[in-house]
Amino acid sequence: MAYSDILHRIASAEARAGRAAGSVHLIAVSKVQPDARVAAVLQDGHRLFGENYVQEAQGKWPGFRDTFGRVAVHLIGPLQTNKAKPAMDLFDAIHTLDRPSLAQRLARLAQERGACPDLFVQVNTGEEPQKAGILPADADAFIRAARALDLPVIGAMCIPPEGEDPAPHFAHLARIAERNGLLNLSMGMSGDFETAIAHGATHIRVGSAIFGARTY
Ligand SMILES: *Cc1c(COP(=O)(O)O)cnc(C)c1O
Repeated sequence: MAYSDILHRIASAEARAGRAAGSVHLIAVSKVQPDARVAAVLQDGHRLFGENYVQEAQGKWPGFRDTFGRVAVHLIGPLQTNKAKPAMDLFDAIHTLDRPSLAQRLARLAQERGACPDLFVQVNTGEEPQKAGILPADADAFIRAARALDLPVIGAMCIPPEGEDPAPHFAHLARIAERNGLLNLSMGMSGDFETAIAHGATHIRVGSAIFGARTY
């Protein structure tokens, strides 16, 4: 079964990297997957999922949480400023803090509610113009500014450019995180999570390798 295969592959990659067993969190990326596939992985006992779209997650997770109890759901897709409030209500972590205007909105809402999901700063390590994320040269200042707003920034996240060796991007993100005292690294997807684990990933985001191909 795909899910247990992935767990074995994670355990092997942790061991090869000399890392503690269980040090890598598997985020099962359930975006656009049929509910039956998601329910099967919940039945297997998995309790950490990732979604890309606020609206899709709003339609799906309240019901699953009623049925299966406590389930952590992380937002891994871009967050529009006008969706910040529902996102804070729904998600346990947001991996896509990628601009000052969003940081300001989250900080204001966090003060109102007295709580905030854990945050990862998304870094555009490939410096791709069409891709979201803070440029590497701006990352230190952005992280400092987010912390000055009292935001709970706990890690950094990247999506390496398609068709490139992801390893240098993972290494670059790890250096940015380390020099900023960030302990969590959200990196690695179905095709490259073992490489990400070798570079220190603490949160891997795996969709199709668990659930099968997405049919949009
Ligand atoms: C969809 C998505 C994933 C999962 O991709 P797979 O290749 O299916 O594992 C991971 N991270 C982000 C940001 C995504 O949008």
